Amino acid sequence: MMLSDSHSTTPSAAGMVYIVGAGPGAVDLLTLRAYDRIQRAEVVVHDRLIAPEVLALIPRAAVRVYVGKASGDHAVPQEGIHDLLVEHARAGRRVVRLKGGDPYVFGRGGEEVQALQAAGIAFEVVPGVTAAGGCAAAAGIPLTHRDLANSCVFLPGHMAEGNSPLDWAALARPGQTRVFYMGVQRLAQIAHQLIAHGLPPDTPAAIVRDGTRASQTVFATGLSALVAQAPAYGPQPGLLIIGETVRLCPEFRPVAASSPE
Ligand code: SAH
Repeated sequence: MMLSDSHSTTPSAAGMVYIVGAGPGAVDLLTLRAYDRIQRAEVVVHDRLIAPEVLALIPRAAVRVYVGKASGDHAVPQEGIHDLLVEHARAGRRVVRLKGGDPYVFGRGGEEVQALQAAGIAFEVVPGVTAAGGCAAAAGIPLTHRDLANSCVFLPGHMAEGNSPLDWAALARPGQTRVFYMGVQRLAQIAHQLIAHGLPPDTPAAIVRDGTRASQTVFATGLSALVAQAPAYGPQPGLLIIGETVRLCPEFRPVAASSPE
């Protein structure tokens, strides 16, 4: 991995890596701690889901490294990211690894921490507002609303394919809100599995795209209807939320009693 040595950073005595959650998009959902670490960064390593308004907070003098991560487009493989963090920290720099949402929720923050520990590099993890929290608030879906859900589960949508390791029988049980990250493009498989395991097809379900950003869109209706009517999957990040709590979303459109399921 090449370091940008031509760029003048002032290395401090000992480098350190800050693994910072940048939240779901809206810049004022950054924590004060995240803001502080970004402002004092000498190197920022970031991926695709970081909003331009957040990137604009990076000091002009800091080296910026984009490491990609649209699904299937890993500009830099995970091991390359680890090497990059370690090399910059060993050169004595204050490195911010800026990640969408929260670093420990489907963010591979844990792997980066393990790599830093193995290399003996000092680090700090700064939590961020995860997409579930951001989208729930912005779309009006109280994830554990009393009497509607006594649990909320975060799931990796990309594990809905083929011989899925997800426990669909457990996920089909009532009284829970299911939040699928990376799941919008697998909506049909997810719905099929849940309904096959007993979830009523008219269970409220929502897709929140670009959650918390000015461009946010919410589409909410019964699960089967959502499969039939959801707008085509696009490049924006989208969250799939399934459960009775979605009924409270102002955008929720119940399926008409006469409409075929
Ligand atoms: N660490 C992140 C999640 C990374 S996985 C977090 O805590 O939020 C990437 C997935 O997060 C996307 O596929 C999408 O499902 C979800 N996501 C991230 N930002 C989002 C946003 N603003 N609106 C909707 N979904 C989002």
